Amino acid sequence: MSHSVTLIPGDGIGPEVAAAARRAVDATGVSIDWETVELNADVILKTGHSLPDHVVDSLERTGVGLKGPVTTPVAGGFSSVNVALRKRLDLFANVRPVRSLPGVVTRFQDLKIDMVIFRENTEDLYSGLEHEVVKDVVTSLKVITRAASIRIAEYAFKYANDADRHKVTAIHKANIMKLADGLFLRCCREVAARNPRIEYKEMIVDNASMQLVMRPDTFDLLLLPNLYGDIVSDLAAGLVGGLGIVPGANMGEKHAVFEAVHGSAPDIAGRGIANPTAMMLSSVLMLIHLNERPAAQRLQTAVEKVYAQRQHLTPDVGGTGRTDEFTDAVIAAMN
Ligand code: NAD
Repeated sequence: MSHSVTLIPGDGIGPEVAAAARRAVDATGVSIDWETVELNADVILKTGHSLPDHVVDSLERTGVGLKGPVTTPVAGGFSSVNVALRKRLDLFANVRPVRSLPGVVTRFQDLKIDMVIFRENTEDLYSGLEHEVVKDVVTSLKVITRAASIRIAEYAFKYANDADRHKVTAIHKANIMKLADGLFLRCCREVAARNPRIEYKEMIVDNASMQLVMRPDTFDLLLLPNLYGDIVSDLAAGLVGGLGIVPGANMGEKHAVFEAVHGSAPDIAGRGIANPTAMMLSSVLMLIHLNERPAAQRLQTAVEKVYAQRQHLTPDVGGTGRTDEFTDAVIAAMN
């Protein structure tokens, strides 16, 4: 059976890592009918919409996307297309497995790091509701709702049960934001109480940041509102070797869009040295979602094999290989 998948190369290093991931997925033998749609600053400025209709139409049709990063201008310009897409398709759960890979030299290589981050994906300070009250005085609305908090907590605990994981840590700042983070926490507690088999812990986000660096191997599943989830994801990526290797999934009731944690990396775009691992491992999550488990396992095993050999790795993880060379090695490792 063939699957229709919307491929969004994005911009910056997006087209390079998306092409590599596509090649790797095709090499697993699974049949994918790729529908490629352009989404980048040029398209956004040309159409005048931060989320052009052709992108949404394609995802509505296929239900599944593999997406490269898209640049968002800093301190001005158009609003984030990534945030807009998650809200528009109600992709409420951002799931990011952070795992050590064999052969990657990190400061924590003697520890086995295997955590999954569950980031609420539709609200919080990403509501985009900012307002200049008077000149030089700005407010930014942090929106936390019971509905969204319960939904992400239920998603995390369901994952814990299904994947036989043992602990969920809710991360918050409810000592200061007593109402907003307090509501998020009450929802997490409510869902935790219905799942007594899973150990439940709470940690204030500043302490959690330190504990993640000091004792990363003690974390299992992390449950966070949107902003902390975003920041902690990059911190966690740093523990296992950087943004080049951490995949992600944006999950909704009807749609799923798979994308790496990393952004468009303008500092290395166009140089042929971007690490496509995060996009390939996002594709592994996509193949599992498509119920193509043997293909997912083939790709995962091939990536791990190439890492264990250490010969074709890209510069961000200590190698001298190029994007294409790494991709060729992964494809060769499947045979
Ligand atoms: P970034 O993730 O693009 O890059 C951070 C650092 O990590 C850079 O040094 C970069 O070279 C490195 N890096 C990231 N991915 C890599 C890879 N695959 N291989 C090798 N090195 C890699 O973060 P940034 O520089 O803060 O953001 C750049 C742009 O990306 C911004 O416009 C931001 O808004 C956007 N962004 C988009 C998404 C998304 O599309 N989902 C996510 C994050 C950031």
